[in-house]
Amino acid sequence: MKNALVTGASRGIGRAAALRLAADGFAVAVNYLKSEREALEVCRIINENGGTARSFCADVSDAGQVRRMISEINDSLGKIDVLVNNAGVAKQIMFCDIDEAEWDRVFGVDVKGVYLVTQAVLPDMVHFKSGRIINISSIWGLTGGSCEVHYSAAKAAVIGMTKALAKELGPSGITVNCIAPGVIRTDMNSALSEETYSELCGETPLGRIGRPEDIAAAVSFLASDGSSFITGQVIPVDGGIAV
Ligand code: NAP
Repeated sequence: MKNALVTGASRGIGRAAALRLAADGFAVAVNYLKSEREALEVCRIINENGGTARSFCADVSDAGQVRRMISEINDSLGKIDVLVNNAGVAKQIMFCDIDEAEWDRVFGVDVKGVYLVTQAVLPDMVHFKSGRIINISSIWGLTGGSCEVHYSAAKAAVIGMTKALAKELGPSGITVNCIAPGVIRTDMNSALSEETYSELCGETPLGRIGRPEDIAAAVSFLASDGSSFITGQVIPVDGGIAV
């Protein structure tokens, strides 16, 4: 059985990705930070449906916690075959109001977290000359989002990391790709009113807001044998809103 680590899998997109990868036959390491109850529930659903899942608490922006988590996963499940760098934070705020702590918070999780977790899983992937790294960016990393400058910059950084790493790791048999979700109904967007959601629907060619499962389906594809010749790509899953 192959193993997948999904960061930030207690809620939202990460939760859906964990459930989907488990349905695809992966044993899943469910990373969380604060939402222990939700992470345990994801594991319960997977384990009760015949799959294998375990939860691992770690702040992806903390090097020591990441090293400990990867070592615990290796001890309990084995090597990690698929890494989904999903954990993320965002905040809608005017650029002039972003203080240093807020800038560092978003870059700490959304960029440094991808660096730390990826670096920690790589030795095994390089050794076995196989692996899949799937980064969750955002359409705002492609187009820029007003009142989300730090988030947009962080998500653009993830796209840069994806492309550079794809070139560096291709010869080691590792693919690195990126999904750029559009507007997905999760806790991250809990500040959006129903009116804003309906305006966003109107701007979306496919006429609806995204579901976590829409992103999980793309994760499933990038983790599958069918995507073995795809690397360094950014796949928008956004109903066409960024076209
Ligand atoms: P969400 O519902 O707010 O969930 C965020 C997840 O990240 C939670 O499981 C949370 O875990 C985890 N997390 C946050 N900080 C963490 C840390 N320091 N260490 C470990 N885990 C941490 O967000 P979402 O909407 O599912 O977003 C998932 C990813 O998709 C993010 O990278 C986000 O930027 C991206 N995205 C989302 C949208 C959207 O419209 N929703 C659009 C584009 C891109 P705990 O609760 O356990 O702390």
